[in-house]
Amino acid sequence: MLVVMRQGASEIEIRGVVRAIEARGFKAHPIPGVQRTAIGVTGNRGAVEQPVFESLPGVLEVIPVTHAYKLVSREVKPEDTVVRVGNVPVGGREFVIAAGPCAVESLEQTLTVARGVKAAGARLLRGGAYKPRTSPYAFQGLGEEGLRILATAREETGLPVVTEALDAEGVDLVERYADAIQVGARNMQNFSLLRRCGKAKKPVLLKRGLAATLEEFLMSAEYILAEGNYQVILCERGVRTFSDFSRNTLDLAVVPAVKAVSHLPILVDPSHGTGRRDKVAPMSRGAAAVGADGLIVEVHHEPDTALSDGPQSITPAAFAALMDELRQIAPVLGRTLPRPAVSPG
Ligand code: PEP
Ligand code: MN
Repeated sequence: MLVVMRQGASEIEIRGVVRAIEARGFKAHPIPGVQRTAIGVTGNRGAVEQPVFESLPGVLEVIPVTHAYKLVSREVKPEDTVVRVGNVPVGGREFVIAAGPCAVESLEQTLTVARGVKAAGARLLRGGAYKPRTSPYAFQGLGEEGLRILATAREETGLPVVTEALDAEGVDLVERYADAIQVGARNMQNFSLLRRCGKAKKPVLLKRGLAATLEEFLMSAEYILAEGNYQVILCERGVRTFSDFSRNTLDLAVVPAVKAVSHLPILVDPSHGTGRRDKVAPMSRGAAAVGADGLIVEVHHEPDTALSDGPQSITPAAFAALMDELRQIAPVLGRTLPRPAVSPG
C-alpha cells in the first residue's frame, strides 16, 4: 500500500502518518518525490484499513500497489532513482561505465588496468576480491588483500570501487573498503545476503540470476529496499538458454521491461552476458540503445593469462575504442558520456 501525501505536506504530518503505520506493526518507507512525498507500507499481510490513513492530516490518497514488488515499483516512486556510487551518479543523464578486471590478481595488475580504464573514461572500477567460481579448485580471489589493492587503486585513480560480497558475513569487510557492494548472479536469491545488504550504508549492485524472471529479479531488489537501503542498481548479465554460441544470452529486452515498472537504474554486463571478447563491443552498443544506464565491463591488460574470465575480457586499448564509439552514440540517445580528463604529466 502507498500513502500519498498532499503537495506541501509538513514534516509533522509526514511523521504522524509514519507513526500511525508503525503503531499497527507495519514498516513505513517515506519516499520524497519531486511533487510530493509518498510513504510505502510493507509488513502488512492483508489489506490495510484504507480509510484510517486517508483521514490523517496531510494525506491526499491511499492506493493499493498492484505488483508483488512494492518499493522498487514505479507506482510507489514514479521518478527515476539516481544512485550515488562514491561521487558518481548512476541512473541520471550520464551513461556510466564501470570497468576493470574480473578478479583482483595483484597490485600491479589492478593498477595497470585501473589506469587504463580511467584514461579511457571509465567512472567506476570493478574487480572481485572474492570470486564465486564453478570449480572449488579455481582461483577464489585474494580476499582482504584484494580489497586493500582495490582501495589503493581508488586512491590513485579516484575511481570508486564496485566489488562482490559472497555471503552475509562477508559484507562487513566489503562494506568497509568498497563504494558499492556487488551481489553476484549466483547469489541473487541468497536472502540472508540480500537482507544484510539492506542494512548496509553503501549502494548495492544486484546482478540478475542465471535463470531469474523479471519478477524474481525485482523481488530480490525489494528485499534490499525493504530493509531500508534504497540505493540499489540492477544489472543484466545474461541468462541461460539453449543458445550455444555464447556463454549466456544477454537479455537486453529486460532493460525497457525494468524501466517500465521500476524506478531503479540498470546496468548491462556485456562480458558475462556473452562470455566472448568479440561480442562485448556490439552488445555494449546495443545496451546503450535500449536505454541502459551504463555498463560493467571486464578489462585485462593480458587477458590470455587472466586468472578468471580471460576469454571475455577486453584489453585497455579495445576498451578505449569502445568508449570512443559510445561517446558518439550517447548524445543521440539523450545521454552524456564525458571525455576523460587529461591528467597532467
Ligand atoms: C563478476 O562480475 O565477475 C561475476 C562473477 O559476475 P556474475 O555474478 O554475473 O557471474
Ligand atoms: Mn567475471
